[in-house]
Amino acid sequence: MFLQSLHLKQFRNYRDQAIEFSAPKTILLGENAQGKSNLLEAVELLATLKSHRTSRDRDLVKNDETIAQIQASLKKELGVSALQLTLRRGSRRTAMINGETLKRQQDFLGSLNAVQFSCLDLELVRGGPGTRRTWTDTLLMQLEPVYVHILQQYNQVLKQRNAFIKQHTADPDQPPPLDPTQLALWDAQLATLGTRVIRRRARMLQRLIPIAQSWHQAISNSAEQLEILYSPNVTIDSDDATEIQQAFLSQLQAKAMAEYYQRTTLVGPHRDDITFLINQTPARQYGSQGQQRTLVLALKLSELQLIEEVVGEPPLLLLDDVLAELDLNRQNQLLDTIQDRFQTLITTTHLGSFDAQWLKSSQILRVDQGQ
Ligand code: ATP
Ligand code: MG
Repeated sequence: MFLQSLHLKQFRNYRDQAIEFSAPKTILLGENAQGKSNLLEAVELLATLKSHRTSRDRDLVKNDETIAQIQASLKKELGVSALQLTLRRGSRRTAMINGETLKRQQDFLGSLNAVQFSCLDLELVRGGPGTRRTWTDTLLMQLEPVYVHILQQYNQVLKQRNAFIKQHTADPDQPPPLDPTQLALWDAQLATLGTRVIRRRARMLQRLIPIAQSWHQAISNSAEQLEILYSPNVTIDSDDATEIQQAFLSQLQAKAMAEYYQRTTLVGPHRDDITFLINQTPARQYGSQGQQRTLVLALKLSELQLIEEVVGEPPLLLLDDVLAELDLNRQNQLLDTIQDRFQTLITTTHLGSFDAQWLKSSQILRVDQGQ
């Protein structure tokens, strides 16, 4: 897919800026705080409906304005589509494809695919389990847009079940026992929806892991061995839905007392994690900076490849300030891989990291105070 143009209206520090993309590689060049990352953020929103920098739309709308708009023209094998996302301060978003307003915003997902890579992504290895769940879920939403609904339903039931548990432990001196029939109703729903989440995560990772391993081998150029383990909170030993559901329910039962005292749901995919091992050692606690960077780079490259395989078209690659973070060897590996295979938008404060050939084949846009 190729992003032909982007039009930002009152988005972050942009007032009204149209941008045409004329080459597979675009370098966004500018001093600090000029709007380079803001531009990538706009594309990220089109791809995922989320920004990794904020969860509040009011941050995205230009100061002193009430409405922001991102418009894009995207060329795919099946034709060109016009995408439009309108963000409002304190009100709902509207998403349009080819002039038609979507009833459900989520139906926007899957129109544009992109993989974002920024220096913050080291959190993927170093951060808590929530970062890795969000990463898995964001990727899954691009691969299978229906996953958004599944996850939303799961989270909804989880919230209601938590409220139910809390309500029944309101008086700690005289705790009335949880009504087992009512709890069983929540358990059944949680297990059914949770099983869907678990199976989709497991299947996606099963496809991603070998790709990530082969990238890791290529970049690390050493005998280092990467293992990636899905660590679901519900212990599972098969992909069979009924078996996972059974395991889910029996673990809920086993934790019933603990949940009662801790006042929250202790079993389910909202507590999943992913473990990265380099030579059998957890990369999160023991990996060197270089090892962690190599790992994140391998994960990002595998995301690109997986989306390309599943969607059938190469996604966009958004690189925010990452070259400076990588040593020369990894920089070259990354730039070589991209070549013209993926449309790439890359931010930088100086052109020093690029070789002459790269510069010659790239479009260079200077970003200066939101223009
Ligand atoms: P760096 O090289 O430091 O990463 P950058 O070019 O990527 O810089 P951005 O993060 O894209 O910088 O833009 C930051 C600028 O956008 C800052 O000047 C910030 O004040 C401004 N900005 C952010 N949100 C808004 C907003 N809602 N309204 C107006 N300006 C905003
Ligand atoms: Mg930036």
